[in-house]
Amino acid sequence: MKMPTLEMPSMKVFDEMESEVRSYCRSFTTVFEKAKNAKLWDKNGNEYIDFFAGAGALNYGHNNDRIREKLLDYLLKDGVTHSLDMATSAKEHFLTRFNEVILKPRKLSYKVMFPGPTGTNAVESALKIARKVTGRTSVICFTNAFHGMSLGSLAITGNSFKRKGAGVELGNAVFMPYDGYFGEGMDTSRYIEKLLDDPGSGISLPAAVILETVQGEGGLNVASQKWLRSIEALCRKRGILLIVDDVQMGCGRTGTFFSFDGSGLEPDIVCLSKSIGGYGLPMALTLLKPDIDQWSPGEHNGTFRGNNLGFVAATEALRYWEDDRLNQEIAMKSRLIRTSLENMLASRPELQGEIRGKGMIQGIAFRQDGMAERLCERVFARGLIMETSGPRSEVAKLMPPLTIGGEELDKGLRILAEVMSQLPVVDENK
Ligand code: PMP
Repeated sequence: MKMPTLEMPSMKVFDEMESEVRSYCRSFTTVFEKAKNAKLWDKNGNEYIDFFAGAGALNYGHNNDRIREKLLDYLLKDGVTHSLDMATSAKEHFLTRFNEVILKPRKLSYKVMFPGPTGTNAVESALKIARKVTGRTSVICFTNAFHGMSLGSLAITGNSFKRKGAGVELGNAVFMPYDGYFGEGMDTSRYIEKLLDDPGSGISLPAAVILETVQGEGGLNVASQKWLRSIEALCRKRGILLIVDDVQMGCGRTGTFFSFDGSGLEPDIVCLSKSIGGYGLPMALTLLKPDIDQWSPGEHNGTFRGNNLGFVAATEALRYWEDDRLNQEIAMKSRLIRTSLENMLASRPELQGEIRGKGMIQGIAFRQDGMAERLCERVFARGLIMETSGPRSEVAKLMPPLTIGGEELDKGLRILAEVMSQLPVVDENK
């Protein structure tokens, strides 16, 4: 069966004017114009199901009605938009609700820092304060970790292509094998512990260990709760701070608000961004245990730490976490995604796919180079937006908004199943 493909608008202006660094528009070669929840429309009126969700910044969907209403009200009454880190009613409201809805019910005590609007701002500030508090310089990070593109974050990011872009030596980071790096049967936390305690290992005591509980960009690698707890325990024993980068996995992506909810973990520092801004608006938080909050006033700053539209949207988004309805919805949709992927793989064993991920970030890892990219290309031509992840782009990743409707989720999975059923084992274009 020949699959219908979409007519795409011209990319001329972008090709001519936008820097060579552009990337997503090379995979999704159209000009988007409108969006609602899990759907996007391009200039030509083509409709797309969004299984990418702004790389995790749109957990509550595009142009969420409830959030949009709050934003419109705020704009129409001339609420303060920009405020550096001055006190505003919008920020006051957000902090109050964040405490009531997120921190208190979890018996968590964190000071909230606004480090600048992006994930990498949250990570940079976490590294800075960890180094300041401990007086140590090195940080333990993990194989296939992704923490952002500014130099401090890049130094703890595994991807060699991204690291090369730095143009300078990236230092003060020690890479250790993530959970499962050597396959099952090897507990890498024991390896780390041995190195830390061995005066001959060449590894000095670090300021912090920074980790993602599920590595999003690194290939959907899920750390076990046991491993996470072992890492936390080895940190505690040695006065090493534990930083959880929940920029992509936080705000419900793995099934709970924090990806570590229920694991017993209590990180010293938590980085949040992407969906914390509710509406895809830039916002980030660095959560600090009160005794870690040893900043001097203004020691870390930034012009866009007071994005009040972000605070307004984020406050409304917190309403999703007032009860467990969204958790249940995520659990149900996650099961559906898992079963669908299992069925797809069962009918194409020769593709040698392996399911990765957790909650509403799952995907298929392929052994053959280029397979995941080919799959994403083909589903896009059928109106489904999906991205790859992993060091060799070997994982085709499904990451729809958590609020995706049943019909859209079914349609997206159907497109994926159809394309999977016809995916050639060898690249026909070669
Ligand atoms: N940490 C993680 C885990 C991420 O996935 C990302 C973005 N993909 C970042 C940090 C960086 O966030 P930003 O792109 O907003 O700087």
